[in-house]
Amino acid sequence: MTYASIELLHRALRSGETTCATLVEAALERAAEKAELNIFIELFPDSARAQAFAVDAKLKNGSAGPLAGVIMAIKDNLCYQDHVVSAGSNMLRGFTSQFSATVVKKLLAADAIILGRTGCDEFAMGSSSETSAYGPVKNPVNPALTPGGSSGGSAAAVAAGICHASLGSDTGGSIRQPAAFTGIYGVKPTYGRVSRHGVIAYASSFDQVGPFAKTLEDLAQITEVISGDDAFDTTCSERPVPSMAPTKAEKPMTFGYYNEVLENPALDPEIRQYFHTKIAVLKAQGHTVKALDFPYLDVLVPIYYILTTAEASSNLARYDGVHIGHRSEGFSDLESLYKTSRSEGFGQEVQRRILLGTFVLSAGYFDAFYGQAQKARRVVRDATLSALEEVDALIGPTTPHTAFPLGQEYTDPTVLYLEDIFTVQAPIAGIPAVSIPAGPHSNGLPFGMQIMVGPFDEPKLFQAAHILDQRS
Ligand code: GLN
Repeated sequence: MTYASIELLHRALRSGETTCATLVEAALERAAEKAELNIFIELFPDSARAQAFAVDAKLKNGSAGPLAGVIMAIKDNLCYQDHVVSAGSNMLRGFTSQFSATVVKKLLAADAIILGRTGCDEFAMGSSSETSAYGPVKNPVNPALTPGGSSGGSAAAVAAGICHASLGSDTGGSIRQPAAFTGIYGVKPTYGRVSRHGVIAYASSFDQVGPFAKTLEDLAQITEVISGDDAFDTTCSERPVPSMAPTKAEKPMTFGYYNEVLENPALDPEIRQYFHTKIAVLKAQGHTVKALDFPYLDVLVPIYYILTTAEASSNLARYDGVHIGHRSEGFSDLESLYKTSRSEGFGQEVQRRILLGTFVLSAGYFDAFYGQAQKARRVVRDATLSALEEVDALIGPTTPHTAFPLGQEYTDPTVLYLEDIFTVQAPIAGIPAVSIPAGPHSNGLPFGMQIMVGPFDEPKLFQAAHILDQRS
């Protein structure tokens, strides 16, 4: 098993109770024991052992970084030099990265150890980790259930006690929803807080990398490490990275919740009750809690799917059988090379989204769909930011219910899109959002509390989370 926190891990490393080499072997053993959960697409035993050896030496001479010996997994859409990255797709099966994503470089520079790449929905498109070309990931809490998606493998690696922490990516909820379904912590930072260089693109104006961890303090620390300006990503902010560690001092805060969320008919009644109780407790503790109206809840999912599929159709145009990725054997001319390579390489969900995205961008429909969705995005952003002028943080459930069974048949694929109803607001508005464990539910499963604050206010996000965290 892994240590309960980075602090305890570092104590054990400093006292000589363990070494990075021992930790890596234990993690590899644990991964093998848990192989049936299909968490990892690939383990990196050779590079992980080499890093352990190097970090053990640094620990001896006192030059080790802030994440020394922290065993981490990375989602299979993050480039790691000389390692395969596939975005959970046959399109990139066997593709070796020529460089490392900035977030990966930052982890390595902080002396974290990367154990392997984890299963995810293909090109991060999904809510259950089932659209992967490498088979579904199972939830360590109950293997008949999804760990959520798309970063299901990264969440499961932590929840199963294989890795100390991990990285995922969140476009519309892919860190927060799996964190909620597996009972751990996960954060989507502000858009522009973390570099996207070397992250396989899904929807570039939404994608953000963030960590999963077992404690809030670890989550904040890793977020701080991966944040910061990057010359390779022009959308990355130049703002200095503040200290994100939550302090123990708890000044009263003003929390807000949306009536439309808590009274939503799709919300599990027990989760609703949990929040009503939590609100009463917060008031009794001296915090202010305000009920707010948010008339846009029903349009969030349409805005999200119009804009992200549009961006995806453009981002995924590069996989044409010529430049990168799968090339079909069965082609007769250039046109059929494109068609067969893309038909063979992409799975059904990815093809569906490329079609939808191409449609909403096409002449004649652009204004009606893409243009309207862009305007609606601005309205939602403005409404969200003005709510956040009234309150310090918005709170609510991360998901409408607990983890659902794997292998369900969907006659209407858009049913799954509604899973994202509470998580897409943050990336539409570009603000940071964290999911912390709540519950458990009487069905024995975890669920999550989502907290959102204004842009670039991660210190306040973690401070609010500290107040709300039932474990702190
Ligand atoms: N479930 C959402 C989708 O399918 C979110 C995915 C993500 O955040 N990468 O697009």
